[in-house]
Amino acid sequence: MDIKKIAAWLEETGQPKFRLRQITDAVYKRGAASFEEITALPEPLRNALKEKFRVLSIEPETILESRTGNAVKGLFRLKDKHKMESVLLNLFPGKWSVCVSTQVGCPVQCVFCATGRRGLQRNLSPDEIVSQYVFWANYLKIYRPGEKIGGLVYMGMGEPFLNYESTAESLRTLTDPGFIGLGDRHISVSTVGHVPGIRRFAKDFPQINLAVSLHAVEDELRSRLVPLNDKYPLAQISKALQDYIYATKRKVFIEYVMLGGVNDSQSAARRLSEWLRGVAAPKSFTVNLIPYNSTAHDFKSPGKERVEAFSSLLLTLNISCTVRKSLGADIIGACGQLAGK
Ligand code: SAH
Ligand code: SF4
Repeated sequence: MDIKKIAAWLEETGQPKFRLRQITDAVYKRGAASFEEITALPEPLRNALKEKFRVLSIEPETILESRTGNAVKGLFRLKDKHKMESVLLNLFPGKWSVCVSTQVGCPVQCVFCATGRRGLQRNLSPDEIVSQYVFWANYLKIYRPGEKIGGLVYMGMGEPFLNYESTAESLRTLTDPGFIGLGDRHISVSTVGHVPGIRRFAKDFPQINLAVSLHAVEDELRSRLVPLNDKYPLAQISKALQDYIYATKRKVFIEYVMLGGVNDSQSAARRLSEWLRGVAAPKSFTVNLIPYNSTAHDFKSPGKERVEAFSSLLLTLNISCTVRKSLGADIIGACGQLAGK
């Protein structure tokens, strides 16, 4: 639902100011799936809204539930027929997270990621981002009554900071108590290391969690994995994180995709710990290891033992570390597998 357009139209047509709040409360707080359901509005207004606007700007094409029941992937059609994916994840009993997309495709083209394979098709609008949350909230209401969305991670398709304006506006709608009202700390935005984006985000959203996808701490290897590293090399990321931590006093989440035989050795773990210590005190970070999920690329999974060895070495070196559960691999909905097809 494009709040700005609806607000402008309500004003143009001389509707009282409280109408907008009636609409946003019904959709965002009570899960109205259509304007017809908002019976507090006069009927002619409901009909006019239905003619002119959509409650959801994304339309589900396929919904796939994983066998384990803890991941659901949606493929959505957009107004211009582009397609985008979004995932609902159950990390803890009764507690769901939405993994939202910010772009159709991704221009960064990391070599292990399915999203980047076809490059960028287009940016998502703020409304298309917020609609992912609204869709899954309504989905839970129907299929898992009583269960709720506890958090949101911007880790679906695309690089949020290469679509900064829409990402920022979607975050405002999601956190504004007048609209959806999620707590800042329940939202995480993951960036591949877009330095100007990290700096803006520190100013605009100091309470929302920041995750940085690092994967390697040598420029030579990182540039091979993440082409954007040529533009924003590790020294610049280090400085931006240092400033971020100093200004916000927040912890930073470090995402590290483990690729078998590439960046999963004991010495890689040691170098990662040293690099982090060069940025800030170890307690400023939590490393999130993501064992490689298979995509059409030529990488191997690191295997359980190497993941365990890597994580225990980091812990010994006083770096807090978790291993990301691979949810949704059977529905091609795990990290890095979203291709929008
Ligand atoms: N563009 C942002 C956010 C989306 S990607 C970013 O890169 O941070 C979300 C996470 O999935 C990133 O940490 C990314 O590195 C990881 N990822 C990508 N491809 C993967 C794969 N094949 N296996 C496991 N994780 C992957
Ligand atoms: Fe884009 Fe993130 Fe995938 Fe890299 S990992 S191609 S930045 S979505």
